[in-house]
Amino acid sequence: MGIRKIDLSLCIGCNVCVDVCPMDVIRMDAASKKAYIKYLRDCQSCCLCEVECPEDAIRVTALPERIIVAAW
Ligand code: SF4
Ligand code: SF4
Repeated sequence: MGIRKIDLSLCIGCNVCVDVCPMDVIRMDAASKKAYIKYLRDCQSCCLCEVECPEDAIRVTALPERIIVAAW
């Protein structure tokens, strides 16, 4: 669960998602000046980043990860 994707073609590097995330999940890549997901496991699916991103570049899901169970 959590933040799914940051569309780099839309991201303008405004830093808003980094600032609003209460869990410190997102960081800015110094070279590309784009946001990236650094600590996915800490994401609480609060959707603040998705809502606040001015470019609508972020997708968050509350759905659990798909668990694949293999039969042996
Ligand atoms: S808020 Fe959106 S546009 Fe701004 S840095 Fe984050 S992903 Fe990029
Ligand atoms: S959904 Fe919330 S906790 Fe997860 S990355 Fe976005 S702002 Fe941070």
